[in-house]
Amino acid sequence: MGSAKTALLLTTAYNFEERGMRYVCMKPRLDTREGSRSVIRSRIGIERECKWIDPDTDLYQTAQTLFEENMSVIEWFLIDEAQFLTERQVDQLSRIVDDFGSNVICFGLRTDFRSCLFEGSRRLFEIADTIDEIKSTCTCGRKTIINARIDQNGDFVEEGAQVEIGGNERYIAVCRKCWRNKRIEQAARQSLPLSFHR
Ligand SMILES: [Zn+2]
Repeated sequence: MGSAKTALLLTTAYNFEERGMRYVCMKPRLDTREGSRSVIRSRIGIERECKWIDPDTDLYQTAQTLFEENMSVIEWFLIDEAQFLTERQVDQLSRIVDDFGSNVICFGLRTDFRSCLFEGSRRLFEIADTIDEIKSTCTCGRKTIINARIDQNGDFVEEGAQVEIGGNERYIAVCRKCWRNKRIEQAARQSLPLSFHR
């Protein structure tokens, strides 16, 4: 999915290292077949090690354990793919901020391929101190709004699970107008054989 936010996360991590600031990267694990070690990687080849977050991971407890191991509070938490966090996990992150004074930066998508909020994103919109939008541009020049899921023919997929585990689905960020127009065009194309027989 969108690489701009991952690139920004990695740039942030790099800046922290340059200044000697301590941080930890974390990322939700959607597929339990993935290994125990993970990296956050960008298309331009930068990567950083990260810790997996499973759906039942208690992030508050994870932070406490980390602080005990390091014998001090870690100042920064960088979370990739934060849309996949559960509501409860976002609440746990807020408690890490409030109880320990750490800072948590979550990078993620606002909505899914059908334009609906993800659970983690919804909770972040509700309780985060600040929200910064990473803007990107559609091929038509407008601001992208929708992360459309596309099939092998390049058509927008309108049905299916919010998260497809182990699937080969691809995504393209488009503006709301192009998203609508392409779906109208697809619908017209799909009904064409019917009208042909009339
Ligand atoms: Zn557009």
